[in-house]
Amino acid sequence: LGSRISDALRNMSNAMLVDDKVLNDMLKEIGNALIAADVSVPLVLNLRKAITQQVNMEEMAQGINKRKLIQTAVFQELINLVDPGHKPYVPVKGQTNVIMLVGLQGNGKTTTAGKLGYYYQRKGWKVGLVCADTFRAGAFDQLKQNATKARIPYYGSYTETSPVVVAADGVDKFREEGFEIIIVDTSGRHKQEEALFEEMAEVAEAVEPDTTIFVMDAAIGQAAQDQAEAFRERVDVGSVIITKMDGSAKGGGALSAVAATHSPIVFIGMGEHIDQLEPFDASSFVSRLLGRGDIMGLVSKLQDAGIDQQPELLEKLKQGVFTLRDMADQFQNLLQMGPISSVMSMMPGMSSSMLNSGSDEESARRINMFLSIMDSMTNEELDCDVKFNPSRIARVARGSGTSVNIVSSLLDEFKRFAKVFKKMKGLNMNSRNGPDLS
Ligand code: GDP
Ligand code: MG
Repeated sequence: LGSRISDALRNMSNAMLVDDKVLNDMLKEIGNALIAADVSVPLVLNLRKAITQQVNMEEMAQGINKRKLIQTAVFQELINLVDPGHKPYVPVKGQTNVIMLVGLQGNGKTTTAGKLGYYYQRKGWKVGLVCADTFRAGAFDQLKQNATKARIPYYGSYTETSPVVVAADGVDKFREEGFEIIIVDTSGRHKQEEALFEEMAEVAEAVEPDTTIFVMDAAIGQAAQDQAEAFRERVDVGSVIITKMDGSAKGGGALSAVAATHSPIVFIGMGEHIDQLEPFDASSFVSRLLGRGDIMGLVSKLQDAGIDQQPELLEKLKQGVFTLRDMADQFQNLLQMGPISSVMSMMPGMSSSMLNSGSDEESARRINMFLSIMDSMTNEELDCDVKFNPSRIARVARGSGTSVNIVSSLLDEFKRFAKVFKKMKGLNMNSRNGPDLS
């Protein structure tokens, strides 16, 4: 999946002028990849529409600005999907906050109850756990174990069979004792069935939760949307916790569910242990969905350090100049931005031999080698004021401890860059002080 999306973006990077066809091809690719990551089909279609609307082809300048606008639009639209536009319930200090967890069996409610309790307890809240799962044998023991490990007070019963009674008793007890956060763990069923929803509604009525959190397994896939909607119809879902994000699931189903229920994700579960719960971060969730590193970070880094943010370089390009020194500057930027392979794939003009040179470390090594070769060049060479004849090439190779072949490959790389930049800006690179590398 990751490679499909980066391929799509890379193809777009290589296409000099981004036109409607390039945009559509890219959106098709990204759409297919998202569907493969369990994002629901209607959602993907809407997403494509939204991106096309956001990217007004006529109004935009040509070249890299447009390309970056499209990339930013793709990520922004995905972020919008997981941001329903309203804030989740935030517990209030100095009062009792009742949080009820709902969801199908095995999705991680009981585990999450412990994690959530631990999270708030560490932040200084007085927390209690209530086990309202009288359906599953051993449910109370499981909650008790988690609570004991974290030294969180708990309430449950081995004898009472009504979840409504246990829930009400537990919440009353903790409320009277001045607990600030009371987490009510409820039972699930293997399927959505009437008995589950009935019980859930009754427990909710008895404990009057300040917020209800829908707990959902990241691996649920295309069924997520249905399931989330079914729960929301029966209980007032305020927010969502996605569990098992440490597994192989990309969370596309979860994203669809959130989009369908308009409930914000508050935490994600990253393992079975009590401390493996992380506050939700939209951009890293979307990055994970896309199967790449921190793409949003990358996009903003590109915006910080990108070519069109460098007025000096832009000015020189306008004058028709792109020199070896400029390429060296670009490489320096690249090394600072990292992860190098992802940044490189977004940089126009990168040859496939550079892109496919292996791991980040290898890419960095290669770029550093090029930089040290350029260190061995004279100012007039870097400024492309002189022609690189064989004796200069040999001198630079000696000076940098490389070889004539490597220096030549650097010059080839430069030729590619120069050509791309020329096309990008519609400039004639040889008009003034242009490189003569023939
Ligand atoms: P419940 O039936 O909804 O209460 O689900 P449980 O809390 O009993 O969890 C079901 C299984 O999922 C247990 O084996 C948990 O250890 C596991 N589990 C829950 N959350 C996570 C998570 O974030 N990551 C991983 N890897 N496992 C989890
Ligand atoms: Mg449970």
